[in-house]
Amino acid sequence: MHVHLVGNGTGGTGCWVRIKGWHRPMAAFMLRHIGLPAGALSGDFDRLYVERLLELVRDSSLGAIVLLAHDNVYDEHGRIMEGVGSFYVPNDYVLSLAKKHPEFWPAVSIHPGRADALEELDRCLAGGAVMMKCLPNCHNIDCNDRRYIPFWERMAEAKLPLLAHTGGEHTVPVVRKELSDPRILELPLQCGVTVIAAHCGTKSGASDPDYFPVFMEMLGRHHNLYGDNSAFNVPVRGGHVAECLLEPVGSRILHGSDFPVPVLGHWAWLRGSIDWASFRCAQRTRNILERDYQLKRAMGFAPETFTRIRGLLRNVSQAA
Ligand SMILES: [Zn+2]
Repeated sequence: MHVHLVGNGTGGTGCWVRIKGWHRPMAAFMLRHIGLPAGALSGDFDRLYVERLLELVRDSSLGAIVLLAHDNVYDEHGRIMEGVGSFYVPNDYVLSLAKKHPEFWPAVSIHPGRADALEELDRCLAGGAVMMKCLPNCHNIDCNDRRYIPFWERMAEAKLPLLAHTGGEHTVPVVRKELSDPRILELPLQCGVTVIAAHCGTKSGASDPDYFPVFMEMLGRHHNLYGDNSAFNVPVRGGHVAECLLEPVGSRILHGSDFPVPVLGHWAWLRGSIDWASFRCAQRTRNILERDYQLKRAMGFAPETFTRIRGLLRNVSQAA
């Protein structure tokens, strides 16, 4: 799970993407890395991206992927913050793709501060949503805001899990850095929502605070908290792999991708998490969904890490 969808809106998908400054060469690198030409962003990008993703899933060890919508950034009064944020993927686009392709399970994205948040949530539940995804630090969501209690309670009642970004972030612009702290997830957890802390609070850049100890402490207090190992194959994120393999953390870890974020085995090899043969074998695998799977198996993540999510998603038999 944790696979991003991106689009420029061609074909009437409703998506948009805005890439500025140093993110441009990074976006070009990411496109090449997933097997698309650098010029794809200005062309029929939405169709190319989906076709490529389907090829990669079908040609991998994965049976299906949880595909993510991405909401706009809202201020504390529920107004869209124009010009903030780097991409948008409507819930309807993800829901409709999942109806067409059994390989895709739809995760919607709703800022709980939106005036229509509860209506949108009910609409997405009716449309077959299996999960809700947000990046509190980038979407400007203080999940502990008590005004959001009805929203979290509705999610808990519907058994819709929350996948929330935690820790540093350098691919999407950050609006409020302090909302990278996993402690902002206390309120949805108390309301009974199953919460998955994406990246387990790990750092993205070398200077980010390390929230992994906070995540570990919270695991002990909340039976409904999990973490995902998405983007553990970029330079800094994988620093806590060893702890993630051991109990009590290991049985609470879910395989996450963070596609199209690059997957490079060098860091795992340099840290000693994998041996040379596993590193060489993974680097020869061009399909990055498969490479990520192979690297995580080689690091020692248990087979259940890749299937545990099934028991947490809402409505998965219908969506699959
Ligand atoms: Zn992500």
